[in-house]
Amino acid sequence: HMPQGGGSAKMASDNGLQVTELSESKRMRILVTGGAGFVGSHLVDRLMMAGHEVIVLDNFFTGRKKNVMHWVNHPNFQLISHDVVEPIMLEVDQIYHLACPASPPHYQYNPVKTIKTSTMGTLNMLGLAKRVKARILLTSTSEVYGDPEVHPQPETYWGNVNPIGPRACYDEGKRVAETMMYAYQKQSKVDVRVARIFNTFGPRMHPNDGRVVSNFIIQALQDKDITIYGNGEQTRSFQYVSDLVEGLIRLMNGDYDQPTNIGNPDEYTVNDFSKFIKELTRSSSKISHLEATADDPRKRKPDITVAKRELGWEPVVDVKTGLAKTIEYFAGVLDEGGEIVPT
Ligand code: NAD
Ligand code: UDP
Ligand code: UDP
Repeated sequence: HMPQGGGSAKMASDNGLQVTELSESKRMRILVTGGAGFVGSHLVDRLMMAGHEVIVLDNFFTGRKKNVMHWVNHPNFQLISHDVVEPIMLEVDQIYHLACPASPPHYQYNPVKTIKTSTMGTLNMLGLAKRVKARILLTSTSEVYGDPEVHPQPETYWGNVNPIGPRACYDEGKRVAETMMYAYQKQSKVDVRVARIFNTFGPRMHPNDGRVVSNFIIQALQDKDITIYGNGEQTRSFQYVSDLVEGLIRLMNGDYDQPTNIGNPDEYTVNDFSKFIKELTRSSSKISHLEATADDPRKRKPDITVAKRELGWEPVVDVKTGLAKTIEYFAGVLDEGGEIVPT
Protein backbone atom coordinates (compact mmCIF):
# COMPACT_ATOMS: atom_id res chain seq x y z
CA HIS A 1 0.00 0.00 0.00
CA MET A 2 2.05 2.97 -1.21
CA PRO A 3 1.07 6.44 -0.02
CA GLN A 4 -0.30 8.50 -2.92
CA GLY A 5 2.19 11.33 -2.21
CA GLY A 6 1.68 14.39 -0.05
CA GLY A 7 0.55 12.33 2.89
CA SER A 8 -3.14 12.98 2.27
CA ALA A 9 -4.12 9.62 0.80
CA LYS A 10 -6.47 7.56 2.90
CA MET A 11 -6.81 3.85 3.22
CA ALA A 12 -9.68 1.91 4.65
CA SER A 13 -8.48 -0.31 7.46
CA ASP A 14 -10.04 -3.65 8.36
CA ASN A 15 -12.51 -1.93 10.67
CA GLY A 16 -13.79 0.30 7.85
CA LEU A 17 -12.31 3.52 9.29
CA GLN A 18 -10.19 5.63 6.96
CA VAL A 19 -6.56 5.97 7.98
CA THR A 20 -4.52 8.81 6.46
CA GLU A 21 -1.18 7.73 4.99
CA LEU A 22 1.35 10.03 6.66
CA SER A 23 4.89 10.45 5.42
CA GLU A 24 7.52 9.24 7.89
CA SER A 25 8.47 12.81 8.80
CA LYS A 26 4.90 13.62 9.85
CA ARG A 27 4.05 10.35 11.52
CA MET A 28 4.51 10.45 15.29
CA ARG A 29 4.68 7.70 17.89
CA ILE A 30 2.01 8.63 20.39
CA LEU A 31 1.47 7.03 23.79
CA VAL A 32 -2.04 7.13 25.23
CA THR A 33 -2.22 5.96 28.85
CA GLY A 34 -5.77 4.95 29.79
CA GLY A 35 -6.39 4.52 26.07
CA ALA A 36 -8.85 1.65 26.56
CA GLY A 37 -11.18 3.86 28.59
CA PHE A 38 -14.08 6.02 27.52
CA VAL A 39 -12.26 9.22 26.49
CA GLY A 40 -9.00 7.45 25.63
CA SER A 41 -10.55 5.16 23.05
CA HIS A 42 -12.14 8.09 21.17
CA LEU A 43 -8.80 9.90 21.22
CA VAL A 44 -7.10 6.75 19.88
CA ASP A 45 -9.60 6.64 17.00
CA ARG A 46 -8.74 10.22 15.99
CA LEU A 47 -4.96 9.69 16.27
CA MET A 48 -5.08 6.41 14.34
CA MET A 49 -7.23 7.92 11.60
CA ALA A 50 -4.76 10.82 11.35
CA GLY A 51 -2.11 8.20 10.47
CA HIS A 52 0.02 8.17 13.64
CA GLU A 53 1.49 5.19 15.45
CA VAL A 54 -0.42 4.74 18.67
CA ILE A 55 0.61 2.83 21.78
CA VAL A 56 -2.08 2.27 24.40
CA LEU A 57 -1.04 1.53 27.98
CA ASP A 58 -3.89 0.38 30.19
CA ASN A 59 -4.43 -1.86 33.22
CA PHE A 60 -8.11 -2.39 32.31
CA PHE A 61 -9.36 -1.26 35.71
CA THR A 62 -12.24 0.72 34.18
CA GLY A 63 -11.25 0.44 30.52
CA ARG A 64 -12.10 -2.44 28.22
CA LYS A 65 -10.21 -4.16 25.45
CA LYS A 66 -13.30 -4.01 23.26
CA ASN A 67 -13.09 -0.18 23.16
CA VAL A 68 -9.93 -0.48 21.03
CA MET A 69 -10.43 -4.01 19.64
CA HIS A 70 -11.09 -2.58 16.18
CA TRP A 71 -7.43 -1.44 15.96
CA VAL A 72 -5.71 -4.48 17.40
CA ASN A 73 -4.52 -5.89 14.09
CA HIS A 74 -3.54 -2.56 12.55
CA PRO A 75 0.24 -2.21 11.97
CA ASN A 76 0.26 1.30 13.51
CA PHE A 77 -1.35 0.13 16.74
CA GLN A 78 0.01 -1.45 19.90
CA LEU A 79 -1.85 -2.37 23.09
CA ILE A 80 0.19 -2.92 26.24
CA SER A 81 -1.36 -4.23 29.42
CA HIS A 82 0.51 -2.22 32.05
CA ASP A 83 -0.09 -0.31 35.26
CA VAL A 84 1.31 3.23 35.12
CA VAL A 85 2.26 2.97 38.79
CA GLU A 86 5.14 0.77 37.54
CA PRO A 87 7.97 2.34 35.47
CA ILE A 88 8.17 1.55 31.77
CA MET A 89 10.66 2.25 28.98
CA LEU A 90 9.28 3.26 25.59
CA GLU A 91 10.36 5.55 22.76
CA VAL A 92 7.63 8.05 21.86
CA ASP A 93 7.13 11.61 20.58
CA GLN A 94 3.99 12.57 22.50
CA ILE A 95 2.23 11.27 25.63
CA TYR A 96 -1.46 11.77 26.36
CA HIS A 97 -1.61 10.78 30.03
CA LEU A 98 -5.20 9.81 30.83
CA ALA A 99 -4.77 6.73 33.03
CA CYS A 100 -6.91 7.25 36.13
CA PRO A 101 -10.42 6.13 37.07
CA ALA A 102 -12.77 9.08 36.56
CA SER A 103 -16.19 8.30 38.00
CA PRO A 104 -16.76 8.81 41.74
CA PRO A 105 -17.72 5.17 42.52
CA HIS A 106 -14.67 3.92 40.61
CA TYR A 107 -12.09 6.30 42.07
CA GLN A 108 -13.51 5.84 45.58
CA TYR A 109 -13.47 2.03 45.31
CA ASN A 110 -9.75 1.95 46.16
CA PRO A 111 -8.73 5.49 47.13
CA VAL A 112 -5.12 4.55 47.86
CA LYS A 113 -4.76 3.08 44.37
CA THR A 114 -6.31 6.23 42.89
CA ILE A 115 -3.71 8.34 44.71
CA LYS A 116 -0.87 6.06 43.53
CA THR A 117 -2.15 6.26 39.96
CA SER A 118 -2.23 10.06 39.93
CA THR A 119 1.07 10.52 41.79
CA MET A 120 3.39 7.60 40.96
CA GLY A 121 1.74 7.13 37.57
CA THR A 122 2.21 10.75 36.57
CA LEU A 123 5.76 10.74 37.96
CA ASN A 124 6.64 7.75 35.78
CA MET A 125 5.15 9.35 32.69
CA LEU A 126 7.06 12.57 33.42
CA GLY A 127 10.26 10.59 33.87
CA LEU A 128 9.60 8.93 30.53
CA ALA A 129 8.80 12.29 28.87
CA LYS A 130 12.03 13.74 30.26
CA ARG A 131 14.16 10.83 29.06
CA VAL A 132 12.83 10.72 25.50
CA LYS A 133 12.03 14.47 25.20
CA ALA A 134 8.36 13.85 24.47
CA ARG A 135 5.64 16.42 25.00
CA ILE A 136 3.21 15.24 27.69
CA LEU A 137 -0.43 16.22 28.21
CA LEU A 138 -2.18 15.52 31.53
CA THR A 139 -5.95 15.12 31.60
CA SER A 140 -6.68 17.01 34.77
CA THR A 141 -10.19 17.85 35.86
CA SER A 142 -12.66 20.52 36.89
CA GLU A 143 -12.55 18.71 40.24
CA VAL A 144 -9.38 20.71 41.04
CA TYR A 145 -11.85 23.60 41.64
CA GLY A 146 -13.63 21.48 44.28
CA ASP A 147 -16.93 22.98 45.46
CA PRO A 148 -16.26 26.29 43.71
CA GLU A 149 -16.88 29.71 45.22
CA VAL A 150 -16.31 31.36 41.84
CA HIS A 151 -18.80 30.74 39.03
CA PRO A 152 -18.16 29.98 36.20
CA GLN A 153 -14.64 28.70 36.91
CA PRO A 154 -11.65 30.34 35.15
CA GLU A 155 -8.24 28.66 35.21
CA THR A 156 -6.98 31.37 37.59
CA TYR A 157 -9.30 30.13 40.36
CA TRP A 158 -7.34 28.04 42.91
CA GLY A 159 -10.26 25.94 44.05
CA ASN A 160 -12.01 24.84 47.21
CA VAL A 161 -11.15 21.19 47.85
CA ASN A 162 -11.66 19.25 51.08
CA PRO A 163 -8.27 17.51 51.45
CA ILE A 164 -9.62 14.65 53.59
CA GLY A 165 -13.09 14.05 52.11
CA PRO A 166 -14.19 11.07 49.98
CA ARG A 167 -13.36 12.87 46.72
CA ALA A 168 -9.90 13.94 47.87
CA CYS A 169 -8.08 10.88 46.48
CA TYR A 170 -9.09 12.06 43.01
CA ASP A 171 -9.11 15.85 43.43
CA GLU A 172 -5.87 16.12 45.38
CA GLY A 173 -4.30 13.42 43.21
CA LYS A 174 -4.96 15.54 40.12
CA ARG A 175 -3.84 18.70 41.90
CA VAL A 176 -0.47 17.19 42.78
CA ALA A 177 -0.24 15.71 39.27
CA GLU A 178 -0.56 19.27 37.92
CA THR A 179 2.09 20.41 40.44
CA MET A 180 4.45 17.69 39.17
CA MET A 181 3.86 18.72 35.54
CA TYR A 182 5.03 22.28 36.21
CA ALA A 183 7.86 21.16 38.52
CA TYR A 184 9.24 18.99 35.69
CA GLN A 185 8.73 21.85 33.25
CA LYS A 186 10.71 24.24 35.43
CA GLN A 187 13.38 21.87 36.65
CA SER A 188 13.87 19.54 33.68
CA LYS A 189 12.43 21.53 30.74
CA VAL A 190 9.77 18.91 30.06
CA ASP A 191 7.28 20.16 27.49
CA VAL A 192 3.91 19.99 29.29
CA ARG A 193 0.21 20.60 28.57
CA VAL A 194 -2.59 20.44 31.15
CA ALA A 195 -6.27 20.08 30.21
CA ARG A 196 -8.87 20.64 32.93
CA ILE A 197 -11.74 18.57 31.64
CA PHE A 198 -15.35 19.23 32.65
CA ASN A 199 -18.09 16.53 32.70
CA THR A 200 -17.97 14.64 29.42
CA PHE A 201 -20.30 11.98 28.04
CA GLY A 202 -20.79 9.81 24.97
CA PRO A 203 -20.76 6.27 23.60
CA ARG A 204 -18.39 3.75 25.26
CA MET A 205 -19.01 5.07 28.76
CA HIS A 206 -19.00 1.95 30.88
CA PRO A 207 -22.60 0.90 31.62
CA ASN A 208 -21.64 0.54 35.29
CA ASP A 209 -19.68 3.79 35.22
CA GLY A 210 -21.96 5.36 37.81
CA ARG A 211 -21.79 8.90 36.48
CA VAL A 212 -24.96 10.85 36.00
CA VAL A 213 -25.34 10.64 32.21
CA SER A 214 -24.96 6.86 31.94
CA ASN A 215 -27.04 6.23 35.08
CA PHE A 216 -29.95 8.41 33.96
CA ILE A 217 -30.00 7.08 30.38
CA ILE A 218 -29.86 3.43 31.44
CA GLN A 219 -32.53 3.98 34.10
CA ALA A 220 -34.77 5.89 31.67
CA LEU A 221 -34.43 3.28 28.90
CA GLN A 222 -35.51 0.57 31.34
CA ASP A 223 -38.30 2.66 32.91
CA LYS A 224 -36.57 2.25 36.26
CA ASP A 225 -36.46 5.04 38.85
CA ILE A 226 -34.12 7.88 37.97
CA THR A 227 -31.87 8.34 41.01
CA ILE A 228 -31.15 11.95 41.97
CA TYR A 229 -28.60 12.35 44.76
CA GLY A 230 -29.77 15.06 47.13
CA ASN A 231 -32.24 17.79 46.16
CA GLY A 232 -31.03 17.89 42.54
CA GLU A 233 -30.40 21.63 42.57
CA GLN A 234 -26.66 21.08 42.07
CA THR A 235 -25.51 21.94 38.53
CA ARG A 236 -23.15 20.43 35.98
CA SER A 237 -22.23 21.44 32.43
CA PHE A 238 -22.02 18.63 29.90
CA GLN A 239 -19.69 18.18 26.95
CA TYR A 240 -19.88 15.60 24.17
CA VAL A 241 -16.78 13.46 23.81
CA SER A 242 -15.85 14.47 20.23
CA ASP A 243 -15.56 18.11 21.33
CA LEU A 244 -13.24 17.07 24.15
CA VAL A 245 -11.01 15.03 21.82
CA GLU A 246 -10.71 17.97 19.41
CA GLY A 247 -9.76 20.23 22.34
CA LEU A 248 -7.12 17.77 23.61
CA ILE A 249 -5.50 17.44 20.17
CA ARG A 250 -5.41 21.22 19.70
CA LEU A 251 -3.95 21.75 23.17
CA MET A 252 -1.28 19.07 22.60
CA ASN A 253 -0.22 20.51 19.25
CA GLY A 254 -0.47 24.22 20.08
CA ASP A 255 2.00 26.52 21.84
CA TYR A 256 -0.01 27.30 24.98
CA ASP A 257 1.41 25.49 28.03
CA GLN A 258 -0.79 26.66 30.92
CA PRO A 259 -3.83 24.77 32.32
CA THR A 260 -6.78 25.01 29.95
CA ASN A 261 -10.45 24.33 30.69
CA ILE A 262 -12.07 22.04 28.12
CA GLY A 263 -15.81 21.85 28.63
CA ASN A 264 -19.20 22.93 27.39
CA PRO A 265 -20.66 25.86 29.36
CA ASP A 266 -24.21 24.51 28.82
CA GLU A 267 -25.28 24.24 32.49
CA TYR A 268 -28.16 22.20 33.96
CA THR A 269 -29.45 21.43 37.40
CA VAL A 270 -29.48 17.68 37.94
CA ASN A 271 -33.28 17.97 38.26
CA ASP A 272 -33.66 19.60 34.84
CA PHE A 273 -31.18 17.15 33.35
CA SER A 274 -33.22 14.17 34.57
CA LYS A 275 -36.37 15.64 32.95
CA PHE A 276 -34.45 16.27 29.72
CA ILE A 277 -33.29 12.63 29.53
CA LYS A 278 -36.78 11.38 30.39
CA GLU A 279 -38.19 13.40 27.49
CA LEU A 280 -35.53 12.31 25.00
CA THR A 281 -36.02 8.63 25.86
CA ARG A 282 -39.84 8.95 26.13
CA SER A 283 -39.48 7.13 29.40
CA SER A 284 -42.09 6.52 32.07
CA SER A 285 -39.46 6.36 34.84
CA LYS A 286 -40.27 7.98 38.15
CA ILE A 287 -37.82 10.42 39.66
CA SER A 288 -36.55 9.33 43.07
CA HIS A 289 -34.39 11.40 45.41
CA LEU A 290 -31.68 9.51 47.30
CA GLU A 291 -29.34 10.79 49.98
CA ALA A 292 -26.88 13.46 48.85
CA THR A 293 -23.27 12.32 48.46
CA ALA A 294 -20.61 13.93 50.67
CA ASP A 295 -18.81 17.00 49.31
CA ASP A 296 -20.81 16.99 46.05
CA PRO A 297 -19.88 20.26 44.30
CA ARG A 298 -22.97 22.49 44.22
CA LYS A 299 -22.26 24.07 40.88
CA ARG A 300 -19.89 23.70 37.99
CA LYS A 301 -19.50 25.51 34.68
CA PRO A 302 -16.34 26.18 32.68
CA ASP A 303 -15.12 29.60 31.67
CA ILE A 304 -13.64 28.72 28.26
CA THR A 305 -12.20 32.13 27.35
CA VAL A 306 -8.66 30.69 27.36
CA ALA A 307 -9.47 27.73 25.08
CA LYS A 308 -11.24 30.03 22.63
CA ARG A 309 -8.36 32.51 22.57
CA GLU A 310 -5.40 30.12 22.65
CA LEU A 311 -6.75 27.11 20.74
CA GLY A 312 -9.53 28.63 18.64
CA TRP A 313 -11.64 25.91 20.24
CA GLU A 314 -15.20 25.80 21.45
CA PRO A 315 -17.75 22.99 21.63
CA VAL A 316 -19.72 22.40 18.44
CA VAL A 317 -22.00 19.49 19.47
CA ASP A 318 -25.04 20.62 21.42
CA VAL A 319 -26.01 18.54 24.42
CA LYS A 320 -29.25 17.30 22.86
CA THR A 321 -27.47 15.93 19.76
CA GLY A 322 -24.81 14.31 21.92
CA LEU A 323 -27.41 12.74 24.19
CA ALA A 324 -29.29 11.31 21.19
CA LYS A 325 -26.11 9.49 20.09
CA THR A 326 -25.41 8.30 23.61
CA ILE A 327 -28.97 7.06 24.10
CA GLU A 328 -28.70 5.13 20.84
CA TYR A 329 -25.46 3.58 22.08
CA PHE A 330 -26.90 2.45 25.40
CA ALA A 331 -30.06 1.17 23.71
CA GLY A 332 -27.74 -1.03 21.64
CA VAL A 333 -25.91 -2.24 24.74
CA LEU A 334 -29.26 -3.15 26.33
CA ASP A 335 -30.35 -5.01 23.19
CA GLU A 336 -27.18 -7.10 23.38
CA GLY A 337 -28.15 -7.97 26.94
CA GLY A 338 -25.12 -6.05 28.19
CA GLU A 339 -23.97 -5.59 31.76
CA ILE A 340 -26.50 -3.08 33.04
CA VAL A 341 -26.58 -2.50 36.74
CA PRO A 342 -26.32 1.23 37.43
CA THR A 343 -24.18 1.75 40.53
P1 NAD B 1 -12.30 5.85 32.21
O1 NAD B 1 -12.41 5.30 33.57
O2 NAD B 1 -13.23 5.37 31.15
O3 NAD B 1 -10.82 5.69 31.64
C1 NAD B 1 -9.68 5.64 32.45
C2 NAD B 1 -8.74 4.61 31.86
O4 NAD B 1 -7.53 4.56 32.63
C3 NAD B 1 -9.32 3.20 31.88
O5 NAD B 1 -9.07 2.58 30.63
C4 NAD B 1 -8.55 2.51 33.01
O6 NAD B 1 -8.51 1.11 32.86
C5 NAD B 1 -7.22 3.20 32.91
N1 NAD B 1 -6.45 3.17 34.15
C6 NAD B 1 -6.87 3.50 35.40
N2 NAD B 1 -5.88 3.34 36.29
C7 NAD B 1 -4.79 2.90 35.59
C8 NAD B 1 -3.46 2.54 35.96
N3 NAD B 1 -3.04 2.60 37.22
N4 NAD B 1 -2.62 2.12 34.98
C9 NAD B 1 -3.04 2.04 33.68
N5 NAD B 1 -4.29 2.36 33.29
C10 NAD B 1 -5.15 2.79 34.24
O7 NAD B 1 -12.44 7.44 32.39
P2 NAD B 1 -12.52 8.59 31.28
O8 NAD B 1 -13.79 9.31 31.48
O9 NAD B 1 -12.18 8.09 29.95
O10 NAD B 1 -11.36 9.57 31.81
C11 NAD B 1 -10.10 9.65 31.17
C12 NAD B 1 -9.28 10.76 31.82
O11 NAD B 1 -9.96 12.01 31.70
C13 NAD B 1 -9.01 10.55 33.31
O12 NAD B 1 -7.69 10.97 33.59
C14 NAD B 1 -9.99 11.46 33.97
O13 NAD B 1 -9.53 11.89 35.23
C15 NAD B 1 -10.07 12.61 32.98
N6 NAD B 1 -11.35 13.33 33.09
C16 NAD B 1 -12.50 12.80 32.57
C17 NAD B 1 -13.70 13.50 32.71
C18 NAD B 1 -14.99 12.96 32.14
O14 NAD B 1 -16.03 13.59 32.36
N7 NAD B 1 -14.99 11.86 31.42
C19 NAD B 1 -13.72 14.71 33.40
C20 NAD B 1 -12.54 15.21 33.93
C21 NAD B 1 -11.36 14.51 33.76
N1 UDP C 1 10.71 6.44 34.41
C1 UDP C 1 10.02 5.57 33.60
N2 UDP C 1 10.38 5.45 32.29
C2 UDP C 1 11.41 6.16 31.76
C3 UDP C 1 12.09 7.06 32.59
C4 UDP C 1 11.73 7.17 33.93
O1 UDP C 1 9.06 4.90 34.02
O2 UDP C 1 11.68 5.99 30.59
C5 UDP C 1 10.33 6.55 35.83
C6 UDP C 1 11.48 6.29 36.77
O3 UDP C 1 11.49 4.91 37.11
C7 UDP C 1 11.17 7.17 37.96
C8 UDP C 1 10.24 8.24 37.43
O4 UDP C 1 9.94 7.88 36.08
O5 UDP C 1 10.49 6.43 38.95
C9 UDP C 1 10.81 9.62 37.46
O6 UDP C 1 11.95 9.64 36.67
P1 UDP C 1 13.09 10.73 36.86
O7 UDP C 1 14.17 10.45 35.88
O8 UDP C 1 12.50 12.08 36.83
O9 UDP C 1 13.53 10.53 38.37
P2 UDP C 1 14.62 9.57 39.02
O10 UDP C 1 14.65 8.28 38.27
O11 UDP C 1 15.89 10.34 38.90
O12 UDP C 1 14.13 9.43 40.42
N1 UDP D 1 -25.83 12.23 40.27
C1 UDP D 1 -27.15 11.91 40.53
N2 UDP D 1 -27.56 10.63 40.29
C2 UDP D 1 -26.74 9.68 39.77
C3 UDP D 1 -25.40 10.01 39.49
C4 UDP D 1 -24.98 11.29 39.76
O1 UDP D 1 -27.94 12.75 40.99
O2 UDP D 1 -27.22 8.54 39.55
C5 UDP D 1 -25.40 13.62 40.51
C6 UDP D 1 -24.17 13.73 41.41
O3 UDP D 1 -24.57 13.79 42.76
C7 UDP D 1 -23.56 15.03 40.91
C8 UDP D 1 -23.92 15.07 39.43
O4 UDP D 1 -25.01 14.16 39.27
O5 UDP D 1 -24.14 16.14 41.56
C9 UDP D 1 -22.77 14.65 38.53
O6 UDP D 1 -22.26 13.43 39.03
P1 UDP D 1 -21.18 12.55 38.25
O7 UDP D 1 -20.89 11.38 39.12
O8 UDP D 1 -21.63 12.30 36.87
O9 UDP D 1 -19.90 13.48 38.12
P2 UDP D 1 -19.16 14.53 39.10
O10 UDP D 1 -19.30 15.80 38.38
O11 UDP D 1 -19.84 14.57 40.43
O12 UDP D 1 -17.78 14.00 39.18
